[in-house]
Amino acid sequence: MDTIGHWIGGRAVPGTSGRTAPVHDPARGVQTGDVALASAAEVGDAVKVAADAAVGWGASPSSRRAGVLFRLRELLDAHRDDLAAIVTREHGKVLDDARGEVARGLDNVEFACGIPHLLKGSHSAEVSGGVDVHTVLQPVGVVAGITPFNFPVMVPLWMLANAVACGNAFVLKPSEKDPSASLLLAELVQRAGFPDGVVNVVQGDAEAVGALLEHPDVDAVSFVGSTPVARFVHETATAHHKRVQALGGAKNHMVVLPDADVGAAADAAVSAGYGSAGERCMAISVVVAVGAVADDLVDAIAARIPGVVVGPGDAPGSMMGPLITAEHRDRVRSYVEGAVGEGAQVVVDGSAGGPGDGFFLGCSLLDGVEPGMRAYDDEIFGPVLSVVRVATFDEAVALVNANPYGNGVALFTRDGGAARRFERTVEVGMVGINVPIPVPVAAHSFGGWKSSLFGDHPIYGPDGIRFYTRPKVVTTRWPDPASSVIDLGFPHGG
Ligand code: NAD
Repeated sequence: MDTIGHWIGGRAVPGTSGRTAPVHDPARGVQTGDVALASAAEVGDAVKVAADAAVGWGASPSSRRAGVLFRLRELLDAHRDDLAAIVTREHGKVLDDARGEVARGLDNVEFACGIPHLLKGSHSAEVSGGVDVHTVLQPVGVVAGITPFNFPVMVPLWMLANAVACGNAFVLKPSEKDPSASLLLAELVQRAGFPDGVVNVVQGDAEAVGALLEHPDVDAVSFVGSTPVARFVHETATAHHKRVQALGGAKNHMVVLPDADVGAAADAAVSAGYGSAGERCMAISVVVAVGAVADDLVDAIAARIPGVVVGPGDAPGSMMGPLITAEHRDRVRSYVEGAVGEGAQVVVDGSAGGPGDGFFLGCSLLDGVEPGMRAYDDEIFGPVLSVVRVATFDEAVALVNANPYGNGVALFTRDGGAARRFERTVEVGMVGINVPIPVPVAAHSFGGWKSSLFGDHPIYGPDGIRFYTRPKVVTTRWPDPASSVIDLGFPHGG
């Protein structure tokens, strides 16, 4: 069986730690390979190479960096299907969904191609007599990116594109559950013409993450994953004096008002709840049915579920693939099995699974769910939709705002005034109005509130540029030596 290794200094490097983890094809339930798990020493090698490369790359003209990014954009575009096939093989999501992931990753590279414009800084002329002030944005140095299993192409590109565009070197630590896409990304980066060492990949688990968080030559850490690990990463990287953005888990609500189109809302709930088997950080997990809409809405969602074809992601017609591992499938199933005991109703039970030995579950729908039940309180991260019934708009907003997560939220309504009130009062970072999965395009930034993001910066877009640069403010004067005087006072303009 092949062992998936690292990419350091512009070439593939085998692991030397002696530690590996198995990699599976989740649609067939078989092991397809092993992935090397880097030791702290291997992480140190990658960081050293990156720190050396960052010096020249950070000093290179932004037009040169843009040129290389344009070539990377062309290569990614040409290899969309190859990347999607790798994602489907190791993650399990259906091919069309994997193609969507690649497209949203590419969006970030296209944004970063505009780096000469994005790094323009600012200038204030004549702030005092003969004095000008300008701000330049300089790279931070070495950026570590630690990414989750559910978007093995898109999330690395959320980080990589802006990090290297700003003149940093990048060390990616992908998820050990689906590591192969990272190596094709690294190969395309190489072919695009990035200097050796500007982009590196170390495969690994918590040991590699710990080594990155403590390494003195890592200057910034971008993390995306579950909330407990995000909190740990934020605390540890901060204690080691790094700047850090750590995006965590989610519990996304979709509020449906009585005036909404029930059919359209049910379509959206099924698409956003069961797409990618519910393994999206922006998946809808809770449908909040307001007032009289509840019975019709539950019926409409239940009626659509038999139409969701569960099967291998590479099989024609499959709409929903497997869960990532057998353990995760069993954990997700436990929420359906435990629902009745907690006082909820199982309207549709998808816990029987799917075809063959893959890690499949069907779609499940729970009704009468309330805070305090496991199905409501936990991030399930699987194809289980919970319906919470409330009487009023205000109760719906209060429910969402009391939830500790604040990644995404959606409102379905035909009432513009209600939509505006919702947008202004809901305590969530990304809001969709009749849009169930409001993932911002790359010209904006992505970030939740509360336990969905630790640190001050959302990821990618304009906030990505701010996170990956340090501002330097330069105050300039070209005085006539003849008018020079000694003045011990503090300048006060004028
Ligand atoms: P995870 O937290 O288990 O793993 C994420 C990364 O952290 C991986 O690279 C993993 O190797 C590493 N890691 C895992 N345990 C660790 C530990 N104890 N110490 C140090 N590093 C550790 O997350 P996952 O299961 O890969 O991904 C799913 C989670 O990610 C969900 O909670 C989902 O909501 C979240 N997610 C969030 C966003 C977002 O933008 N907010 C996007 C995608 C996924």
